[in-house]
Amino acid sequence: MDLLLFGPPGAGKGTQAKFLVKELGIPQLSTGDMMRAERASGSDLGKKFNEYMSQGLLVPDELVLELMEKVLSSEEAAKGAIFDGFPRTAPQAEALDAILAKLGRKIDRVVAIEVDLDVIIDRVTGRRVCKSCGQTYHLRYDPPPSDGVCTACGGEIYQRADDTEETVRKRDSEYQAKTAAVLDHYDAKGVVAHINGVGELDEITERIREAIATA
Ligand code: AMP
Repeated sequence: MDLLLFGPPGAGKGTQAKFLVKELGIPQLSTGDMMRAERASGSDLGKKFNEYMSQGLLVPDELVLELMEKVLSSEEAAKGAIFDGFPRTAPQAEALDAILAKLGRKIDRVVAIEVDLDVIIDRVTGRRVCKSCGQTYHLRYDPPPSDGVCTACGGEIYQRADDTEETVRKRDSEYQAKTAAVLDHYDAKGVVAHINGVGELDEITERIREAIATA
């Protein structure tokens, strides 16, 4: 199955993708995680990504697609994937469809997670993330251990540099301007299910399960 988790930055796509990876036995493909890993490696490509990421702007399509094409041709994603934070523009969606078509696949379900901006700002500014495995915590709702060591993998927990209110607002306006159109692309194919992204984590997972079951 190829599943796309869609929604504004901070909607909970990454958190929910991590639960679904175990259940569905397919990998989470997060362009944001891949770009952060590239940035951490100190490569020229990583530096280029950072010019955009640090300002809350979208990375140009050609760079994103180069990254995604490599991953999709790998053995890891041969049985399907959970796309998180990709595609973020209409050209990315068209390119993804073309890559999947070559593999005899298509996006089977788009789950659009709906959350208001004020809730997102509260979530994102309190968010803490493991540098190694991407496990997320929240200062109030799911506090990280006081020693800053990830309970899932022993990695270092940190705050993403783009998790400030100012950058969240910028990322949201990029989402409204460029990413919201991706939903129209998939709506036309009849694969979109909308779910309420506010509530307990397991309630939201259950809503996603139901949305997938009707695919
Ligand atoms: P995320 O972790 O999905 O919130 O992404 C963090 C940042 O990485 C975004 O604000 C963008 O600068 C960049 N990014 C991640 N995925 C994409 C994408 N598919 N297209 C363009 N930029 C992206």
